[in-house]
Amino acid sequence: MMPANFAPFHFAGCVGRDAGLVSRPQPPARLRRMPLAGCSGTGIATVAARARRAAVAAVATDSRHNAAMSDAPADLLTVAISSRALFDLEESNSLFEAQGIDAYAAHQRSREDDVLEPGIAFPLVRKLLALNEGAPADSPRVEVILLSRNSSDTGLRVFNSIQHHGLAISRATFTSGAPTWPYIKPFGAQLFLSANAESVRGALENGVAAATILPAASMAKAVPAHRHDQLRIAFDGDAVIFDDEGERVSQEGGIEAFHRHERERAHEPLPGGPFRGFLDALHRLQAAYPPGEDSPIRTALVTARSAPAHERVIRTLREWGVRLDEALFLGGRAKGPFLDVFGADIFFDDSLHNIDSARQHVATGHVPHGVSNP
Ligand SMILES: [Mg+2]
Repeated sequence: MMPANFAPFHFAGCVGRDAGLVSRPQPPARLRRMPLAGCSGTGIATVAARARRAAVAAVATDSRHNAAMSDAPADLLTVAISSRALFDLEESNSLFEAQGIDAYAAHQRSREDDVLEPGIAFPLVRKLLALNEGAPADSPRVEVILLSRNSSDTGLRVFNSIQHHGLAISRATFTSGAPTWPYIKPFGAQLFLSANAESVRGALENGVAAATILPAASMAKAVPAHRHDQLRIAFDGDAVIFDDEGERVSQEGGIEAFHRHERERAHEPLPGGPFRGFLDALHRLQAAYPPGEDSPIRTALVTARSAPAHERVIRTLREWGVRLDEALFLGGRAKGPFLDVFGADIFFDDSLHNIDSARQHVATGHVPHGVSNP
């Protein structure tokens, strides 16, 4: 349930580097402390010493049992995000790496009222939350959960910034350095975005779609400019939506062997990959809106496949009953310029080669899965 102090979003105006979707008057830069009690009713879990034990226990738990643990409504799209993916925390992260946890904690506390700048996934999160416009307050379409390795104490700056930017995020965990991904399934999240590659691998190994968001400091561009009111998400095919069978054949036998393999199996649906569940959830949400340009969500498949390897993909999506609005069969062309034209708010790919091209143009999430990520 959304806290009462968050107003619905509208599509108007801009703020800071995001130039995104803002409706609320912005509070002054110096903030009052956000009372955590205001969120406690919605389940803030502040975790310190017990977090590591809880994390280990969750690892040992069967993933299907974990899925059943969630009490989130079945049709709710839930996205879990780390504080470094949501905000630009690179300065404090550099301090942490150079001088350790005590210097980091002192830095965060001394700047508790300084608002954090948007991070790479900020425009995406804003658009996700804007999908709740017009939905009843007690049954939102989308929920974004914060999973932070900060302590709740140093995480106060993150919550202050969430409030400042008018993001309707009320559920969070702070684990004081312990892994956050074990909490993804109890929350029922279908997607996890983090700047921490280890966390992302943990989530993927436990059956959750997850991607590493590369920090702003290493990006060729800062937070991407807002170009569409639509939420636009682009996916690679092999080892992301689909499993990595095609990638394996291609790497072992070359492109001819791959095309022969796919031609022979054109009528055999591809097995699902790590992002199939998220794609399904997104599709269910998308189905609530009219198709086409008026839909607030637009999706694209952007794959290195080309004919004759296209047919199996098309037949597989038909078999799954999933619609992708655009399908780009690029036959090995650099993906970045095509993603630029599509205007992706985020693009997911397992190949770092493709990520290097894509991140010159759009926000990217690396999916460390399959034969390309041993
Ligand atoms: Mg791939």
